[in-house]
Amino acid sequence: MSKAQTLRTAAQIVDAGFAPTENRDVLDAVAARYAVALPPVLAGLIDRNDPHDPIARQFVPDIAELDHRAEELDDPIGDDAHSPVEGIVHRYPDRVLLKLTHVCAVYCRFCFRREMVGPDKPNALSRDALEAALDYIRVQPQIWEVVLTGGDPLVLSARRLRAVMKALGSIDHVKVVRIHTRMPVADPARISPDLVRAMKIKGKAVYVAVHVNHARELSSATRSAIARLADAGLPLVAQTVLIAGVNDSAEAMSALMRALVECRVKPYYLHHGDLAPGTSHLRTDITTGQNLMRELRGRLSGLCQPTYVLDIPGGHGKSPIGPSYLERDGDRTVVEDFNGKRHTYSAG
Ligand code: SF4
Repeated sequence: MSKAQTLRTAAQIVDAGFAPTENRDVLDAVAARYAVALPPVLAGLIDRNDPHDPIARQFVPDIAELDHRAEELDDPIGDDAHSPVEGIVHRYPDRVLLKLTHVCAVYCRFCFRREMVGPDKPNALSRDALEAALDYIRVQPQIWEVVLTGGDPLVLSARRLRAVMKALGSIDHVKVVRIHTRMPVADPARISPDLVRAMKIKGKAVYVAVHVNHARELSSATRSAIARLADAGLPLVAQTVLIAGVNDSAEAMSALMRALVECRVKPYYLHHGDLAPGTSHLRTDITTGQNLMRELRGRLSGLCQPTYVLDIPGGHGKSPIGPSYLERDGDRTVVEDFNGKRHTYSAG
């Protein structure tokens, strides 16, 4: 039996039964604009009988992606405005993004960097460009944290990743390296013992931020991959994107947050959907996100609470946009409890 392959074209998606035949030509146009990759592990999680399947909604291309809205932006979080050298985004004083590659194991249909990621984009930083990016970090003593992102940095071989981690490990002022990845979900077998060893740097804190949007993404293979990271002593946090029809219900979001914590992954950010082109069908409004956060606060442990954030379009950074539980009423301070009851706080 031949090994299942990643589906990369509209024809393959249609032939595998994930989209109707009559959509094939339009999906060709979608795939020509935005990269497609549906790896076997994720394809295997899709229920073909469910037209609203939350896995399919995230990864199977949709004709709605050709609906571009005036407010949508090619670079919705404004990376380019803060890129002093190729591969670096320096938006906040004490940390930088280091984008090692434009390739991912899966292409999320809501991706905020969808205009920049894909196999037809430059594959990885050239050796010289990587050296220039590392030089930039070396001469900026205020850089305390380096975030490896992309694309997905874990598409790199263990050998290449080890070389980058070693270079970062030799910079005294860099104390923390964070690796942003979807690999444990998209291709859990890639999280091999060798790759895990390559991620560690003696004397530095290395965090892994894994991107997960629905509890069903946490298959047994994904849970094992996450366990390999946790058992190696790498602290894990989760990033989740709020997506209409995927996790915009209290049930779906609660199940995800609990499942993450059970896997030893601390929910970190819940991102409001960015204004990426062709993604309006996947965005909610902010009120929906705030109501969800209230429901989480009422029903789940503090460990299960992410911070709901908006990346302000134009490159102005993230701001927390969750509900407020505190109100000033003249001289009184009023605070709301997890049941929605209000109390006066008399100490100011
Ligand atoms: S894994 Fe991340 S960078 Fe890659 S397509 Fe998904 S959201 Fe975009």
